[in-house]
Amino acid sequence: MHGNTQRSSLPTEAAPVPLDAEACLVALARGSTALMTMEHWADGVDQLLAELGPVTGASRVWILQLVEMRPDKVVQDYVFEWASSERYRLLGHYRGRLFATSRGEPEYQRLVVERQRGCRHDFCTPLLPEGPIRRHLESQATLSMATVPIFVDGRWWGTLGVDDCERAVSWAGPGLDLLESAAQMVAAALYRYQLSHRSRQVELFHKVADCGVWEVSLRNGRVWCSQGLKVALGYPESYPRLPLRRLAARLHPEDRAAIWSRLRAARHIPGHAQFRLDIRVRISHDTWSWYEIIAELEHNEQGEPVALAGVLVDIGRRKHEEEQAQAASECDALTGALNRRGLDRRMAEGPVAWPRHLILLDIDHFKRINDNYGHLVGDALLSRLVDRLAQELRPEDCLVRLGGEEFGVLTSGIQDRQAMAMAERLRRRVAEAPFRVKVPGKGVQLSVGITISLGMARQSRDDEEALGQLMAEADEALYAAKHAGRNVVVPYPGR
Ligand code: GH3
Ligand code: MG
Ligand code: MG
Repeated sequence: MHGNTQRSSLPTEAAPVPLDAEACLVALARGSTALMTMEHWADGVDQLLAELGPVTGASRVWILQLVEMRPDKVVQDYVFEWASSERYRLLGHYRGRLFATSRGEPEYQRLVVERQRGCRHDFCTPLLPEGPIRRHLESQATLSMATVPIFVDGRWWGTLGVDDCERAVSWAGPGLDLLESAAQMVAAALYRYQLSHRSRQVELFHKVADCGVWEVSLRNGRVWCSQGLKVALGYPESYPRLPLRRLAARLHPEDRAAIWSRLRAARHIPGHAQFRLDIRVRISHDTWSWYEIIAELEHNEQGEPVALAGVLVDIGRRKHEEEQAQAASECDALTGALNRRGLDRRMAEGPVAWPRHLILLDIDHFKRINDNYGHLVGDALLSRLVDRLAQELRPEDCLVRLGGEEFGVLTSGIQDRQAMAMAERLRRRVAEAPFRVKVPGKGVQLSVGITISLGMARQSRDDEEALGQLMAEADEALYAAKHAGRNVVVPYPGR
């Protein structure tokens, strides 16, 4: 693609550089092998230059890397060199290898612009007009020079050149063709190195941070993601194409909706197009994993969104710990039932279905149990009671220890009659058989019979006031049950 020869020199009468086509091919082939097989691409480049030197008969073969393009000057670095003899060596002779060329000088400026466009150049020093290029070549005792730009990933990366200090020859034609092939080989090796280096960095990042990198093109829906992430999602490392639809199907429906809404919001504000969300991803048939998604919407110059990219961080462990900590903080340590905090959260969350009932229950004459058998037996009895009550409940019903020997059952989606029947069943199950309780430290089993009193109330509205009322009404009903002689269920008046 950079084949358009442009000579900045005057038409030259210099003789063409003599080249042996077969030797040139062998040199290119050997250089190519070195670039492919050397452990570091730079060693391969040294080898390639060393192959080109003898077949071209040049005094030096070199590579300049573009370091910085400033408005006033170009900063380059002399990074590779092969010299036919020590006296032609420049690398290491410069004090600093970085050097700047002024773009204010029209002759240099033209050279720079042409190299950026991919033009090749050849100069025969004695035929050059007076000017900075001729002065520069003369200062290095160079009689002829040829250069081709090296393009990596579409950008001018540097320049490959040959200097001849013994022959004022023309490098046009086959000489430049040879250099251009070599430049393309260097570019390919460098590009390959950059890619593999980057992908190694990404994988390392993935490993240490438990995260994966991904990108979705909004133009064609193509998905790219790092190998580790592919594996985590259950695809082979080398899986070529991940369809967006199939990936989206892995997201929990609630989280998918949250992502879309964030995306819609980000679409119109290029300045604030980043967002973070905790999401659930389906890892296998019935396993969901927590990830934090950190995404950025990329816009083109017209302000249109073109890609969505970001990282996916595995926060499964953190979420698991959070969930465990929350569960522990909402759980009663003695009996394993929910505690008041757990009840409050469930009350605030609202019922699965209306209406909602609260059954409060309190052990009758529990003080006597403590007095007769001791506090530890009382504790053990509370645990046995919870086990027995739990057997009578549906998974969606909440059993709560509200304090001391007072408990609550929060249930939803059943009618008053069924709620009464549930309370009655609880009462009967407790009263019908004594509890077998081990006396702690003694290895003795006691048989302790107890009864409970229950009060029931119904909540039909969903507001904070109604929650307080539900509790107060159930409490009033429980009080009435105690007054009615205990071991009974009393609904709140009016039911
Ligand atoms: P009532 O039928 O009126 O409910 O009589 P009661 O003896 O059960 O009276 P009340 O409910 O007012 O008293 C609760 C007693 O339960 C007070 C205390 O000795 C006992 N208690 C409260 N919490 C615990 C506990 O965690 N462990 C044990 N072993 N006893 C407790
Ligand atoms: Mg009691
Ligand atoms: Mg009590």
